[in-house]
Amino acid sequence: MSSSEFYDTAQALENYIRFCQEIGIEELPSGGTEIAGAEKKNGVVLLSDQEGSESLSCQTLSEIREELGDCTRCRLCETRRSIVFGEGNPKARLVFVGEGPGRDEDIQGRPFVGRAGQLLTKIIGAMKLERKDVYICNVVKCRPPGNRNPEPDEVESCEPFLAKQLESINPEVIVCLGSVATGLMLKLKNFKMAQLRGTFHQYGNSRLMITYHPAALLRNPSLKKPVWEDMKLVMKELGISISG
Ligand code: SF4
Repeated sequence: MSSSEFYDTAQALENYIRFCQEIGIEELPSGGTEIAGAEKKNGVVLLSDQEGSESLSCQTLSEIREELGDCTRCRLCETRRSIVFGEGNPKARLVFVGEGPGRDEDIQGRPFVGRAGQLLTKIIGAMKLERKDVYICNVVKCRPPGNRNPEPDEVESCEPFLAKQLESINPEVIVCLGSVATGLMLKLKNFKMAQLRGTFHQYGNSRLMITYHPAALLRNPSLKKPVWEDMKLVMKELGISISG
């Protein structure tokens, strides 16, 4: 190994340790953390059946929120306290898409503010960004009771509003957090997250990165390493220096 390769490796290790500290890992995961699909890094998977949002007229986020109104398009309206539309920079270069609001989000009317949300905030910080720099939203805007996964018909009812949000923001990179967002954005039904993450896909004009939901990281800390690998690719795509 040359001295520059050694320096790069040491720098990468230091960055990873710093990321672990940022997101609260006290012990480094050992074993079983090979990055699936790593050989596909920087590749692009183009999906021919992807519909994107070309049929939608471009609106501002406030116009889209107004159109959503006091929505009763699916049964989730019956149990929600708040519609959690999304928040952040309307011209963000980076958008995170989760699954749906949880209890804290339903109470506060804001996305990703519970434990998983706090972890996402730390991940964004580790990427040298702040929440106000990015945009954060979910596939469904109302909390599924008991935090169950949204049903396909609920996703179908709410999806046009996510598509419009993404068209309006037109980000360079979209990060799908978890399988619900991934299935919707890539129009897939049966898939393994490990096979799709670690490489860029395409959604309209945006590069699409698949990664694990922060709630999954809380349950299984060994997933933090692949998430950091994914976020490093996103940083590189956005021209954010990983070292230093
Ligand atoms: S989840 Fe979406 S479609 Fe269903 S009621 Fe809420 S805002 Fe409307």
